[in-house]
Amino acid sequence: MEVQWIVFDAVGTVINPEPSVAQAYHMIGKQFGSERTLEEVRLRFMSAFSETEQQDASRGSTGMTTNADVEETRWRYIVAEVFPEVEDGEGCFRRLHDYFAELTAWRAFDDTLPTLHSLSERGLRLAIASNFDHRLHPICDGIATFGLFEKRFISSELGFRKPSMQFYQAVVDALKVDAEQILMVGDSLKNDVEGALSVGMKAVLIDRKLPHADKTGLSDSPFGVVRSLTDLQGLLS
Ligand SMILES: [Mg+2]
Repeated sequence: MEVQWIVFDAVGTVINPEPSVAQAYHMIGKQFGSERTLEEVRLRFMSAFSETEQQDASRGSTGMTTNADVEETRWRYIVAEVFPEVEDGEGCFRRLHDYFAELTAWRAFDDTLPTLHSLSERGLRLAIASNFDHRLHPICDGIATFGLFEKRFISSELGFRKPSMQFYQAVVDALKVDAEQILMVGDSLKNDVEGALSVGMKAVLIDRKLPHADKTGLSDSPFGVVRSLTDLQGLLS
């Protein structure tokens, strides 16, 4: 069955923070009196972030339920883990939280906008599906081409995080086509690829660090791998 919808993950797939997350944390932490180096901040962020994902996974299916408060608590915890020494921890959290709601903190990858346009011109329908929270809305609203996303699936609004089956089943139900007519594209093997495959969707992993484009076909492999969003064109023809 032919793919009718392409659903994109947001962060790391179509947009990325620029400056990097570590640079932003480092800059704002400094404003709140932190003296940690950029490298320390980077390592502490990575460790705190993966810790929250592991905590979710260890809680089984309840770890996959979410809402706006759960997501805010997650980010408050991460900021506190990165900067335990900051006196005004809540102020620092608030500043960082607001910072990442601004379009200026983000940049679309060079291959994002041209790819969305050409896929749309080919008659494919586009959507975005993210574990990032309601802050994704102002970012999508601020990028004209993102108007091509006919639907936005945000885990804190759906009530379930990727990679749960509940999240992906909600996507299938909302798009009103067979699961196999939907292609999920994302940079996380677990959250994007495995989650989508679990409900019968097709999936493509984008790995921008691959030395060569490895265009695994969509039919003879459980999922495809591309190095750039541009490679999606060839994969779908
Ligand atoms: Mg991602």
